[in-house]
Amino acid sequence: MAATSNPPGDEMGYFIKRGKPIDSSRLKKDLNKQGSIAAARAFSEQIEKGALLEKCPACGSSAHHKLLTVYGFDYNECEGCGSAFVCNPPADEALSAAYRSDYYTEAQKVLYANDSIIDYRVAQVFTPKVEFAIEHSRASKKTWLDIGCGVGETLSVAKGHGYTILGLEPNVMQAEYAAKRFGVEVRQDYISKDTVSKYRGQYGVISMFSVLEHVPDPNQILADVSAIQGEGDTLVIEVPHFPSISTMSQMTFPNHVNRMMHPPLHLFLFSLRALEGMLKRHGYKINAAWLFGQDFYEMISTLGLLAPALNQSKLLSALSPMMSDLQAVIDNHDMSDEVLLVAERV
Ligand SMILES: [Zn+2]
Repeated sequence: MAATSNPPGDEMGYFIKRGKPIDSSRLKKDLNKQGSIAAARAFSEQIEKGALLEKCPACGSSAHHKLLTVYGFDYNECEGCGSAFVCNPPADEALSAAYRSDYYTEAQKVLYANDSIIDYRVAQVFTPKVEFAIEHSRASKKTWLDIGCGVGETLSVAKGHGYTILGLEPNVMQAEYAAKRFGVEVRQDYISKDTVSKYRGQYGVISMFSVLEHVPDPNQILADVSAIQGEGDTLVIEVPHFPSISTMSQMTFPNHVNRMMHPPLHLFLFSLRALEGMLKRHGYKINAAWLFGQDFYEMISTLGLLAPALNQSKLLSALSPMMSDLQAVIDNHDMSDEVLLVAERV
């Protein structure tokens, strides 16, 4: 484990890396944000809202207050753990239906219909994350289980690093794409107390990228994963981080959100404190955290959308070369919108 940079990184009792280079040429080729927001809003508004939760599902605290309403869903801020969570999440069946909807499946199709996007994601997005995880893992077994593996980017990188891999992905189209594109084994399965015994003791590394924020009970999936692993094994998770500067623009313009605070897809935005507590409860300690994000981009793209005069001015193009520097300031103050954790089973 090489703490090669970032001397202030150990103040939490584990290594913290802050920031990630931003490819702003790629960011400028943004998709149609206006259209994407309209579709996100239409999708969320028609989903039936559930009963109000009494307790924060991350930490169990009853002390929480409303932050904002996005498309009819309330995000509350927990005073116990500092996370933001959807306080009126849909019932299980309505939530499953949301993941079967055209809105969700079409977005996935766009992703895996474009090989160059997948290539870019493997090289620029997933390779650094998997390498960070390997650097901070002390697992002795070179076996890797990726839960919610999507189209298989993580698996392809782990395989390239010599791991024996298996992916779990309930979405049929994504599972088939992953198998075909990367030649990796993917099962249409998920982790539950009924399936734990199939996987127990086999995986030195388990990863869950963008999983915990989607499930109503993140503690249950952590309990199941913990039952699969043994002492010294590694768990890698990536989730939206709260509080972040991204959420500031979303709280200011809650009718113009298409990522991060997008309910009910993101039921949680987790604080580091919440993640530390949840992992500890399920037998893990954090070895390393990596905070990074697209907060500054999120803010100026939302402003540009709502104030068209900005897009006509030279201001936005003048800001473009500063983007990485400004994001670095945000990252250095732990206000980034994503966090990746490498934890060890104790
Ligand atoms: Zn909480």
